[in-house]
Amino acid sequence: MRFPLALTLKIAGHILQHKLQGTKRFATVLQLEPLHTCNLTCTGCGRIREYSTSLKDVMSLEDCLESAIECNAPMVSICGGEPLIYPHIEALTRGLLEQRRIVYLCTNGLWMRRKMRDYLAVSYAKQPDAVLPQLNRLADEKLVTPSEIEQIKKGPKDSTKPVIAPNRWMYWNVHLDGLEKTHDIIVEREGVFQECILAMRMAKILGYQVATNTTVYRETDVAEIEHLLDFLATLGVDGHTLSPGYDYDAAKKDMAKRLGLDPANFFLTRRATIEKFSKATTWGKKYPLFGTPIYLEFVAGLRDLTCSAWAIPTRNMMGWKAPCYFMTDGHFATYKELQTKVDWNKYGVVDGVARDPRCENCMVQCGYEPSATLGLHGRPGDTWKNIWFNFGPRPRPKNHPDPKVVFNGVSAAATKPKQEATVVRG
Ligand code: SF4
Ligand code: SF4
Repeated sequence: MRFPLALTLKIAGHILQHKLQGTKRFATVLQLEPLHTCNLTCTGCGRIREYSTSLKDVMSLEDCLESAIECNAPMVSICGGEPLIYPHIEALTRGLLEQRRIVYLCTNGLWMRRKMRDYLAVSYAKQPDAVLPQLNRLADEKLVTPSEIEQIKKGPKDSTKPVIAPNRWMYWNVHLDGLEKTHDIIVEREGVFQECILAMRMAKILGYQVATNTTVYRETDVAEIEHLLDFLATLGVDGHTLSPGYDYDAAKKDMAKRLGLDPANFFLTRRATIEKFSKATTWGKKYPLFGTPIYLEFVAGLRDLTCSAWAIPTRNMMGWKAPCYFMTDGHFATYKELQTKVDWNKYGVVDGVARDPRCENCMVQCGYEPSATLGLHGRPGDTWKNIWFNFGPRPRPKNHPDPKVVFNGVSAAATKPKQEATVVRG
């Protein structure tokens, strides 16, 4: 299976319940942005510019947890900004897991090893004999330094603070937009790709579930994406999402103003998305992509879908963001207001015609994947296709790309990790 059975059943049960109740619109995934501050400034990220904030501007822990209860989505994607610099990230993750939700902790990877060392310090204090073999292995693989091991053995700085422990309901969701050279250019900092790889290797040794998310841009070489997915399979990464990078407002403005670049050279139009994703259905069979085969057919230009952004609401410190993760026409105080006051018929592309010009080039997952999952505009046989895709055997790619292709000629395993970034913007 691509996705663990318990998690698949959780989502399926939620959808079935709403269908039986005849609920017109309901949330399947909550995009929760507890903060917008980040320790990177990636090209193409409108988020950190649209909400130019500081670390003081964060959602309270209570608000975050209440938002999940309010919309009752079975899955919560904690994003931002960089969620690992949110001061309550451990308590938030634990709280959502206690609410029995599936948690995607989206990260740029820079602080992942730090958070896992916090977990190790707590575990070592409780069960040193059980943790020692893991520490030895991490040391052998140069994923922790001798001084970090000493720190871990001294125990947690604050024993009352929760940590992010491996959990079958939680995924680290690491942002990776290509192999080393490409990714580091996009995130505008050298060494980030290598840090992500080291963090993912450490996570797999410690028993975490790890996923990646990749945005495909106009410049993206699809052969490189295949290399990336082949390489990630060698690390034991559990699944991936691929999404087209389209020219949403905030990102477009930043690119023109800050970098003096023409967004048309960077982002995908609808036609360019279909060209880039022409092999999407083959990728779905070859790699453990998350989602549905129906969405992959959509981005490959093999069928049409309508936007159902209402199913993946975004909540941030301003409120419930309308209409979607990418576009901002306002914020509402409650989830109910978002669902009932927004005229959802104003958005999306229907029969090739954009209802809103800003939607014209959008084929992103958070708008269209729910339509595929919920069977909106479905064709006969779609349900079985989705079931087979998710319940059938998990694809296991066997290609081992040359490390020189992946790492600009140098293997991360053989090098000392570059300095872990600690600078926080905002
Ligand atoms: S990691 Fe990059 S894409 Fe993600 S919030 Fe930070 S700047 Fe934006
Ligand atoms: S098509 Fe949907 S998800 Fe895309 S920009 Fe428009 S409203 Fe947002």
